[in-house]
Amino acid sequence: MQDILGMSYLELEDFFKSIDEPRYRAEQFAQWIYGKKLRDFSDITNFKKELKDKLEENAFIYSLKLRSSQTSKDGTKKYLFALEDGELIETVLLRQKKENEGTRNTLCISTQVGCPMNCSFCATGQAGFERDLKTSEIIAQIADVERIEKLKINNVVFMGMGEPFLNYENVVRAIKIINEKKFFNIGIRKITVSTCGLVPEINRFAEEELDVVLAVSLHSADDTKRSSIMPVNRRYNLEELKKAIAHYISKINRRVTLEYAMIRGFNDKPEDLRKLISFCQGLKVHVNLIPINETEEEYKKSEKAEYFASELKKKNIESTVRQERGADIDAACGQLKGKGRKH
Ligand code: SF4
Repeated sequence: MQDILGMSYLELEDFFKSIDEPRYRAEQFAQWIYGKKLRDFSDITNFKKELKDKLEENAFIYSLKLRSSQTSKDGTKKYLFALEDGELIETVLLRQKKENEGTRNTLCISTQVGCPMNCSFCATGQAGFERDLKTSEIIAQIADVERIEKLKINNVVFMGMGEPFLNYENVVRAIKIINEKKFFNIGIRKITVSTCGLVPEINRFAEEELDVVLAVSLHSADDTKRSSIMPVNRRYNLEELKKAIAHYISKINRRVTLEYAMIRGFNDKPEDLRKLISFCQGLKVHVNLIPINETEEEYKKSEKAEYFASELKKKNIESTVRQERGADIDAACGQLKGKGRKH
């Protein structure tokens, strides 16, 4: 049985050819599946019964089982989905009204059940690792939320449960499917992939020349401190990470986002700011200063984000203080544990 949601457009054409149908059927089919969000082949009105029977016999559309959902005071909605083997993942929808742009619907999607990277501030990292998601399980998060909410997703961030680059092939395949004009048609620059800093994969990703937004979770520009909260730093230190980011920027010619969760008394002192500035120097980056969500007793939200932003500006380093969203339903950064989790 062919798993339709994991296919590229070319593969979909090949599939129709393999069941003795013309390749152009792929385009008609995509309009029903991705455009009208149909799940049942028998509802495709411009296909004859014989073709619908062939589809039933040879293919399926993967669908997630919605276990529950919660809506935050700010409108952020978190979905708990069950996979076929009973594992659970979380997906988060953020809706923002934008001037001249209507509503921006951003979906934060998961790439693994759990995460093995073990970042100490992250609820996902504390919950263990089960397995990678298949491409169709990644794609179904978008397809199913669009169907449930009857809306169009126009931004996708790979920042849910899991480290995307540990599930490299399926993530790259998913990006191409999300961007495919005949499927979701989400602009490549509306897709963000977030990594905790896997240097070989950042270098490999640069070779894909996909032009998506790359976000790197930095959180400290001091090796000892970063290693204490992100074990990945013991494998690839800041010097190696900076080199990989510089290489990525030189290949893609695009600003990289640095995520900096601000933790009171840990990474918000003047020396931390100095090190952050020095890390950014020579790099085309945008720093996201994120007041951390207080998932663990030991981490308290810093009040220094605005100060950091103004000091970065003096050094011509772009930054934004990113507003927390969905914190009251554990949907914000670092709070997914779906018991899954999040970057
Ligand atoms: S922050 Fe990201 S990489 Fe680190 S444990 Fe959480 S999900 Fe994994």
